[in-house]
Amino acid sequence: MIAPGETIGILGGGQLGRMIALAAANLGYRCHVYAPEADSIAADVCAGFTCAGWYDAEALAAFAKACAVVTYEFENVPVAPLAALGDGALHPGTRSLEVAQDRAAEKSFVEALGGRPAPWAKVDSAADLAAAIARIGTPGILKTRRDGYDGKGQWRIMTPEDAAGLDLPQVPLVYEGFVRFDAEFSVILARGADGDVRFWDSAQNAHKAGILSQSVVPAGDAVQAQVDAARALAKQVADALGHVGVLTLEFFATADGPVFNEMAPRVHNSGHWTIEGALTSQFENHVRAICGLPLGSTELCAAGVVMDNLIGDEAHDWPAILSDPANHLHLYGKAAVRPGRKMGHVTRLVL
Ligand code: AMP
Repeated sequence: MIAPGETIGILGGGQLGRMIALAAANLGYRCHVYAPEADSIAADVCAGFTCAGWYDAEALAAFAKACAVVTYEFENVPVAPLAALGDGALHPGTRSLEVAQDRAAEKSFVEALGGRPAPWAKVDSAADLAAAIARIGTPGILKTRRDGYDGKGQWRIMTPEDAAGLDLPQVPLVYEGFVRFDAEFSVILARGADGDVRFWDSAQNAHKAGILSQSVVPAGDAVQAQVDAARALAKQVADALGHVGVLTLEFFATADGPVFNEMAPRVHNSGHWTIEGALTSQFENHVRAICGLPLGSTELCAAGVVMDNLIGDEAHDWPAILSDPANHLHLYGKAAVRPGRKMGHVTRLVL
């Protein structure tokens, strides 16, 4: 067990790291961020900051020495250099990273456990894409296997002609059939080193332009009917990975049951509502899990919760948001407002 007072290392310097650090501070831990970017909104609230590249083995080794345990808030950290951290220092482990950072790997992994993604194919050339479209049909979505987030690295293909006119990026891709869904939802769980698993209520998620816009708990009936099956799959994934910490799986609720979309080996935007809406937040339980502490209750502490993301300019509305005393405002402290950038979120409890 890593006792309060020790230092937790966080790979990645964004808002998820910031909220992990805030939860860790409540439990008496210190945090140390490692990130390649000089301005880090996570480091702003941490005791230590190493600004160095992902491939700097010396800096990674020194960082690991300064930390009792290391975690990540960003799944695109390159895996190979993490050997410099030493044995057993990283939670969740590199297996969770390897699987979740490659869309093809995560789909295969989930399929092997009996889960069902949209029909999909690997695409490395125009010929592969034509073959994928011939087999799967249109409409569909072409996605980069790695490094995509918030709808970036995605192309909607409505007809085979769309594909023919596309200047294919020179990176590994997947093509997936377009899923007709009733709703989108996520399963977020925390798994301790002893295998204890807790789930939060599944939020129903709404996206705008590929970016999460709103998460609502409780989810509607279409989702509720599929949560048990989705949880069973998520637990199998967590167990098979030996995952320690928070794990998120995103699903489409369809007429034929839950269709797996993607996973994140970390705390997730669709779980930000848990800060005020659950007895223990996703951030606190992540810290508890990686430090070997008992997990806290994930029970709801209201009849419902609504979390709205503040994207781009919406963050300028903070005076109006604060004029309603029921709103919980979270601003991430990002210096530059950009369209499509997650600047903060607002949570409201339904009492
Ligand atoms: P992703 O980055 O894969 O989570 O995609 C972002 C959003 O695009 C999802 O939350 C969905 O709203 C939409 N989307 C992605 N893949 C599909 C698909 N195969 N069928 C329908 N909608 C999708």
